[in-house]
Amino acid sequence: MGESRNCPVCHADFKNAKLFIEKNIDSAKLSGFSFASRKEPEYMCHRLVQCPNCGLVYADQPPGEDELAHAYHVADYDSSEEANDAAASYIRAIRPTFGALARRQSALEIGTGTGIFLECLSREGFTNLVGIEPSSAAIAAAPEYRRAWIREGMFDEKDFDPESFDLICCFMTMEHVRDPGIIAHSALRLLRPGGAFVTVTHDYRSPINRLLGKRSPIIDIEHMQLFSKRSARHLFESAGYADVTVKAFVNTYSLRYWMRLAPLPRGIKLAISSLMASIGLDNVKLGVNVGNIVTTGFKRA
Ligand SMILES: [Zn+2]
Repeated sequence: MGESRNCPVCHADFKNAKLFIEKNIDSAKLSGFSFASRKEPEYMCHRLVQCPNCGLVYADQPPGEDELAHAYHVADYDSSEEANDAAASYIRAIRPTFGALARRQSALEIGTGTGIFLECLSREGFTNLVGIEPSSAAIAAAPEYRRAWIREGMFDEKDFDPESFDLICCFMTMEHVRDPGIIAHSALRLLRPGGAFVTVTHDYRSPINRLLGKRSPIIDIEHMQLFSKRSARHLFESAGYADVTVKAFVNTYSLRYWMRLAPLPRGIKLAISSLMASIGLDNVKLGVNVGNIVTTGFKRA
């Protein structure tokens, strides 16, 4: 184990952070799916500590940059039906932002998966679309017509021109990167004046996550940090964004998917799932506030 790190959002000293949850990693259970999106929860995690200054919960001894990049590159990819449902939930949550943008032309998505959200943006009038995705399995699952938008790899500011995007999105990815501050600062430089940076993250302080505690799906080996409304706002405002808003929103998924996330023993979940399938309930879509937040900030015009 190397040295501990300071808070990646406000840089407060790790020595003042308090233990949030002890490390729990069973290397025998690690699989390619441990780093896939929307998998079944495993409740494995790095040691997480809580910053007393901005409230961020973070892995104080995260794996190295190269190790993370490799894990995401080889990560398996699961159902795109859930990816489609997620994209529809995100577009509903951020559509109010579109009217406030200076222009609606070019958009970048960091962690684009199969590029489904870029397709939503094209329907909203964006014409110049770019997505970054480290998982080759996710890109392979993307339909041919979306692949032209997707670049394989990790996000690197140097790959883009300054002030070249009207909208930069990063959904369910800020928890996974080693340094969310770097992404927030880079995005600000890549935005045109009047453009917006939008993230979707978990909120570990939301009622559902506080209720589930250690059995929450957000307790996950993939997560290098966990945000709350306060720490998300701190990230955006300290990076220099204006008119920052942080809001909870509703995710709509099939009952089948909700069952997969449920904190119940596997046998019971399988029994309920097959019962639901037998009466055709498993495809019913249900909107739930699962403790996700959308954070938006603008680059001053
Ligand atoms: Zn902090």
